[in-house]
Amino acid sequence: KKRQLEKLKGTKSITGDGYEIVLAGNIGASKDVDRVLQQDGHSIGLFRTEFLYMNRTEAPTEEEQFIAYKETSEKMQGNPVIIRTLDIGGDKEVDYLNIPKEENPFLGYRAIRLCLDRIAFWKVQIRALLRASAYGNIHIMFPMIVSLDELRQAKCLIEEVKDELRNEKIAFNESIPVGMMMETPAAALMADVFAKEVDFFSIGTNDLIQYTMAVDRMNGKVSHLYSPYDPAVLRFIKRITDCARENGIWAGICGEAAAEKALIPLWVGIGVKELSMSPVSILQIREKIQSLSKMDCEKLAEKIFTMSTAREIEDALKNTNKPVS
Ligand code: PEP
Ligand code: MG
Repeated sequence: KKRQLEKLKGTKSITGDGYEIVLAGNIGASKDVDRVLQQDGHSIGLFRTEFLYMNRTEAPTEEEQFIAYKETSEKMQGNPVIIRTLDIGGDKEVDYLNIPKEENPFLGYRAIRLCLDRIAFWKVQIRALLRASAYGNIHIMFPMIVSLDELRQAKCLIEEVKDELRNEKIAFNESIPVGMMMETPAAALMADVFAKEVDFFSIGTNDLIQYTMAVDRMNGKVSHLYSPYDPAVLRFIKRITDCARENGIWAGICGEAAAEKALIPLWVGIGVKELSMSPVSILQIREKIQSLSKMDCEKLAEKIFTMSTAREIEDALKNTNKPVS
């Protein structure tokens, strides 16, 4: 089986009738790029930069981050490297940031909220990202956006830093793509508006499920409600891909559901353009995509969206995928 998958290296992640999906890797450090390349990942769909900030006593300097981002993008040789800005808080703690304990950390002071509140601190990262963008195909992505104001403030900071760098005669990519995580119901509902202000969407199903179903993703007691097959979640995902297409931008998925085998036909059917996952899953998902027809997947998607329960949807998708023999 492993040898069979090895043979897929160097082939495309394309359906029988020619629909190609970019298969990308999720990483938490520059060194993880090697694993993505080993598994023949095309790009980096999610660089979780919070890991650069964790398990240490002070924040990484601009130079340190610059080197990490530059190295990563150089290794990817011109293929996209989507770097998500600091997503701390929620389940991820950093002592030196002195974030007061909260009753509901997932609904609290985290990610873009913290960054917009501590602009001077966040600016260090934006400078590092822009400087590194001179050396590769870096994309910037914001986590946990719920409102257009947040997005605009974040984009404003990027423009401000660009001005600074220009004045300092430091090189950067003037047209660096800027995108956002789609991981809150508010963002999903406003996707038509957001699609006019970013270059791409990346759907964070881990959080999107949590916030849509009002289920703490860390709480086993309610985990039966935490399902990527739930029609409420799937309607949001479809809305996001539809709004992206209508506005000429692309939408990908970088949460765990990107590598959920039974859901791949649905992702193909609704026109997801990129799937970013743990590198070990890349070849398996490529094999799955190559076994599909986009036209059949579209019909399947139509059927799935007439269904009303997670159970019904999961059954339908898992049966369709049963091997014939
Ligand atoms: C997500 O929420 O789906 C996601 C990819 O981000 P994280 O798991 O880091 O919150
Ligand atoms: Mg998330």
